Amino acid sequence: MTRDQGQAVIHKFGGTSVGTPGRVRDVVRLIASERYRQRRGQLVVVSSAFGGVTDRLLEASRAAVAREETHRSILGEIRDRHEAALRDLADPAEYATLRADLDALWEQVRELLDGVFLLRECSPRFTDAIISAGERASVPLVAAAFRKAGLPARAIDARELVRTDNRFGEATVDFATTRTLTQVAFGSLPPDVTPIVTGFVAATPEGVTTTLGRSGSDYTATILADALDAGRVVIWTDVNGVLSADPRLVPEAFTLDRLSYQEAAELAFFGAKVLHPRTMRPLVRRSVPLDIRNTMDAEGATTVISDERTGAEGTVKAVTAVRGAALVTLRGNGASGASALAARAFDALATASIDVFLMAQASSEQTVTLAVRGSDADGAQRILQTALSSELERGDFLGVDVEPGAAVVAAVGDFMHYAPGVAGRMFATLGKARINVLAIAQGASDTAISAAVSEVDASAAVRALHEAFAMKRTRAHLVLVGAGAVGTRLLTLLDAQYEALLDQQVNLKLVGLATTSQAAFDPNGLPRADVALRDDYTLADLLGAITTARLERLVVIDATASETVARHYPELLRAGIAVVTPNKQAGTLERAYWRDLQSAVRSRRASFLYDTTVGAGLALLASLREAVRTGDRVRRVEGVLSGTLGFVFNALRDGVAFSEAVRQAHLAGYTEPDPRDDLVGIDAARKLLILARELGPDAGFGDLELADVETTSLVPDEFATLPLNRFWERLPELDDEWRRRTEDADGVLQYVSTLDVEAGVLRCVVQAVPVASPLARLSGSTHIAICTTDRYAPEPLIVQGPGASIDITTAVLLADVVRAAQAM
Ligand code: ADP
Ligand code: ASP
Ligand code: MG
Repeated sequence: MTRDQGQAVIHKFGGTSVGTPGRVRDVVRLIASERYRQRRGQLVVVSSAFGGVTDRLLEASRAAVAREETHRSILGEIRDRHEAALRDLADPAEYATLRADLDALWEQVRELLDGVFLLRECSPRFTDAIISAGERASVPLVAAAFRKAGLPARAIDARELVRTDNRFGEATVDFATTRTLTQVAFGSLPPDVTPIVTGFVAATPEGVTTTLGRSGSDYTATILADALDAGRVVIWTDVNGVLSADPRLVPEAFTLDRLSYQEAAELAFFGAKVLHPRTMRPLVRRSVPLDIRNTMDAEGATTVISDERTGAEGTVKAVTAVRGAALVTLRGNGASGASALAARAFDALATASIDVFLMAQASSEQTVTLAVRGSDADGAQRILQTALSSELERGDFLGVDVEPGAAVVAAVGDFMHYAPGVAGRMFATLGKARINVLAIAQGASDTAISAAVSEVDASAAVRALHEAFAMKRTRAHLVLVGAGAVGTRLLTLLDAQYEALLDQQVNLKLVGLATTSQAAFDPNGLPRADVALRDDYTLADLLGAITTARLERLVVIDATASETVARHYPELLRAGIAVVTPNKQAGTLERAYWRDLQSAVRSRRASFLYDTTVGAGLALLASLREAVRTGDRVRRVEGVLSGTLGFVFNALRDGVAFSEAVRQAHLAGYTEPDPRDDLVGIDAARKLLILARELGPDAGFGDLELADVETTSLVPDEFATLPLNRFWERLPELDDEWRRRTEDADGVLQYVSTLDVEAGVLRCVVQAVPVASPLARLSGSTHIAICTTDRYAPEPLIVQGPGASIDITTAVLLADVVRAAQAM
């Protein structure tokens, strides 16, 4: 058998994902389904030690150094935990062999710890040998769990694959040798066998055990990805991807959809524990994407780390902190140049592989301050004293001081250098939070700005900075269909309100825009003004793209009057996409469609909001919905629901000619795009049907369709089919008749829509209303609805307000968009 063609995928599980036997079984299930999805190419699993085991092994060695005699009991406890997991996870037939292997391993560790106890010292080499036991014990048990579930699997000790130098505790990888070793080892694996590899551990050419640094299993995964030319790496952990801050510090931190390698590396370097800092390096050359996923929420939000740089989220993407830092200061003499000194100091520490988190110069005193890991502080002091001994003798500086108890906070984001205000804002924020800044980074990198604070202030600093920067989260991605009057106005309004909405934690990001013939889509965000539309991209392409783009929190705004667009709603809603619209089509298409739409809304609980379709300026639908929801029953609604027709009749009463009245209404934006939709009564009929359907099936209108609404038209039938320009030309032919009808009416002419539940009536007709009726006293394009309900009887609830002008419709539409976004 030969292996399937196709690229390998590496799945890495952290300690939290294999913390208990139950979790290990979850991993087996997860991989079984990933394997099924992947179909082709090798699947490799990398596993950490069981959660907490590495820490306990370190404690055991510290206890041994301190001669506390607890190292044996700690080891005993670790041993018991694995013994219990073995019984639980492995097939009984395998028990004895695995048990013997584990016993041998713990025996080795015991000997090492006893040696440490005797010597009162634990070298880095010894430490690596001891803590590597965590992965060497967990991996055979994970592999056994796979086999017990019927999935062939083999435990592989990464010391046979990953070759490093002897920098114990943080070894440097020899990629070429690792590649050869890995390809040979994997080439001889039967194709159906899943390799389960120990993370974190490696070996020197002499076979001495090394480790890759804490959290190093992440790195093992990408080292193997490089060796096997893998197509993807997935790191499974206990959070939904990389968040905008450590969730233990900032509960409102949120998942970052996308990060560049650079951003992820900076975040990890500055203390975000979710990734080992070197993890990204092997991926860069071949642009292999890395997914961070949550074992406990496999279908939930994730982060994709790739070579794509996305600035659309806002300049600062995440805030993080390195605790346990120390400040190393070269005390100046007030005279010589600090810059040259700083450069020399930086080089000396880099040569000794000491990470420098921040470097600052105070030009007034000619001092240079460097932030390093607390554990490196003494070493750094010694190295600087030696490397800069001639400068010290010459008196260029007066000495090297060490001050422990510091932390370095960092704001990370690729595009920060485009926003010169970020540093200022960072220090203003810390100042406002009364946090004393000990040192400010010089010449911030493209991707991070950092500052040193006292360690006790670290959490407060991260929280304050997250509050100040990371509120720019994308609350919802918007796709706007239709760039007519409402669509265009909505874009203007979105832009104008952007900052104000941000202050309410609502970041609305436009990702798609379509007109009848053109469209544009960019998952990272389109500009809020002057979007360039493409001729070769259509609405259909756009809708296809958004259903596959895996964008979280997507809202489609249909600002057209199109039936074609409305026909897409059920499929969008079923994909979990919210739909917000002033388009009346959906509420008035045939009942089968309406039912399908309702079931789509219920099935995914995605919002479908259409408060702009009827009496937007009155909040009519919202009022009736609330009444019905709280147990009231609507009996009758009577009103003028067409602003256009209300406007026309008011004008007629004032002596304006009919054609002129229609033209004015059109110019004022009160009419539908084609004013005949209003004049033939269809617009009023649609609104009445939407209202009727809103009352729910109990009201008895559930089965009615548009044709069941009795309507009278203001224009003769032949006008309905004329081309629009001919229609406008011929409209004055009707002026005389309307003047006569207005004068002859017994009362005031009005276009009245009536819904009567008891009588089962839905009717939109021209009616002469008594002069004293509220329906007679309207002006301009005012809407009115007189609602009689069980509660509002005999005195009805009368709601009256401006007709749905473009401005009002757009404002209510934006309110619906925000409501949909917040519901997500
Ligand atoms: P694993 O055992 O899967 O390797 P780790 O404990 O090493 O998991 O890393 C995941 C943890 O990292 C999370 O539970 C979280 O507490 C912490 N963390 C710190 N900063 C971040 C961040 N910015 N995003 C996500 N997680 C973070
Ligand atoms: N077990 C190791 C640690 O705890 C490696 C890892 O989990 O990635 O650091
Ligand atoms: Mg980890």
